[in-house]
Amino acid sequence: MAEPYYPPQSVLATGAAGRCPRCGQGHLFKGFIDVAPLCDVCGLDFGFADAGDGPAVAVSLLGGFVVLGLAMWVDLTWDPPLWVIAVIFFPLTLIICLGMLRPLKGMLIAQQYRMKAEQATPKNLK
Ligand SMILES: [Zn+2]
Repeated sequence: MAEPYYPPQSVLATGAAGRCPRCGQGHLFKGFIDVAPLCDVCGLDFGFADAGDGPAVAVSLLGGFVVLGLAMWVDLTWDPPLWVIAVIFFPLTLIICLGMLRPLKGMLIAQQYRMKAEQATPKNLK
């Protein structure tokens, strides 16, 4: 029996939406950032999905750059007390970083699927 045809999906759209990189319909995540074992629509095994530290590094660098830049701008512009900066930027850090984590992980897994990236083993090094 022939495999059903799945047209190529957008890495950015499916990843950001947390959808299956093959069919674009099923859910990639079963929790906030836990990857589901299988696609609930096409049955793709998500065992290949291993984004590693990629999303966390990107979130730390991008989110840190934005939050630190804003905090420095606020401090240099208005010179508020330290507690004001903490009250504003601690929640903002959480919102920005947690908000970017899931879409970035989805995009990295979708790109991993698109590029057929996997761990190097003696079998696929030959
Ligand atoms: Zn699917």
